[in-house]
Amino acid sequence: MKVQKELKVRASGKINLYLNVSKNPRSDGYHEIKSIMQSIGLSDELTFKVADNENTQNLTNPNGIYITSNDISIPLDERNLVHKAAAIILDEFRLRGKYKIEINIKKHIPVCAGLAGGSTNAAATLVALNEIFGLNLKYPRLLKLAALVGSDVPFCIKGGTVLAEGRGDKLSQLPDLPFYWVVLTTDGRKLHTKDIYEMFDLVGVPVKPRHRELVKDIKEKQYDRFFEKLENDLEKVAIIEDGKVDSLKEKIRNLGADITQMTGSGPTVFAFCSDLTAARKVYNGLKSQSEKAILTHTTPYSLVII
Ligand code: ATP
Repeated sequence: MKVQKELKVRASGKINLYLNVSKNPRSDGYHEIKSIMQSIGLSDELTFKVADNENTQNLTNPNGIYITSNDISIPLDERNLVHKAAAIILDEFRLRGKYKIEINIKKHIPVCAGLAGGSTNAAATLVALNEIFGLNLKYPRLLKLAALVGSDVPFCIKGGTVLAEGRGDKLSQLPDLPFYWVVLTTDGRKLHTKDIYEMFDLVGVPVKPRHRELVKDIKEKQYDRFFEKLENDLEKVAIIEDGKVDSLKEKIRNLGADITQMTGSGPTVFAFCSDLTAARKVYNGLKSQSEKAILTHTTPYSLVII
């Protein structure tokens, strides 16, 4: 097997423009969702280095997977989703023990922020190892492997503007939204997805899904109508944990952006702006009030080999 030595991948985060959650967990413990997800420019950079068995005499780790990162808050062992994705590839293709895989994760996407940072890193790992080992896996197979790692991972393989159903693994590609500036803000608090879904089961109020109307709006390019209907069922629950979600939305509105919502299980709040002047006003306004802010944009791409 010919093994390419090094590959870099840029892996984008996502925001949920619409997130409808059903209350009762499925028999597998997951929740049934309807979500419209959008890739954003904000991304992590992953570097993959693979050495073949001639150079693996000094393996200190029987898995052969070594993760490093600039972010000290993420685990570097089996708990890292990158590790999980790499292990799936090694096992599926009987490569375990034959190679040393070094993966560096340069994080820019805030962790536990509702931006799918871990999921996009895992998606990048599947795509990079497919390339490095010349496995020639096509989309359907990659999406199946991605679903084994986590609910948001298949979306991160696909990217762009997507309707996700089931536990997030049934994907329908939608026409790409036009370019919008996106301002992200968070108080830096980490909300765990599992905790927020558990709270939703206790106190959340399920509502009838409207995803079909939203999909129709996107297909008909009726963006104003689409933006009026944005909704995230987890927002009210996350606000109980982090009251800042509401006050950040209020600040964004006062800075002139009407399209604002929490993403995923929070606590990051986004603002959608059609021009740079409006986006700068929100970004600078938040900064001047000592809030954390990131200026990014919509993108049709999730993973880019660089
Ligand atoms: P989602 O939007 O998919 O619900 P999130 O953006 O809220 O996810 P992540 O940043 O993906 O959350 O992190 C969730 C958990 O996964 C954290 O406990 C984190 O420590 C763990 N984790 C494992 N691997 C990674 C990774 N490569 N990057 C970030 N977090 C990771």
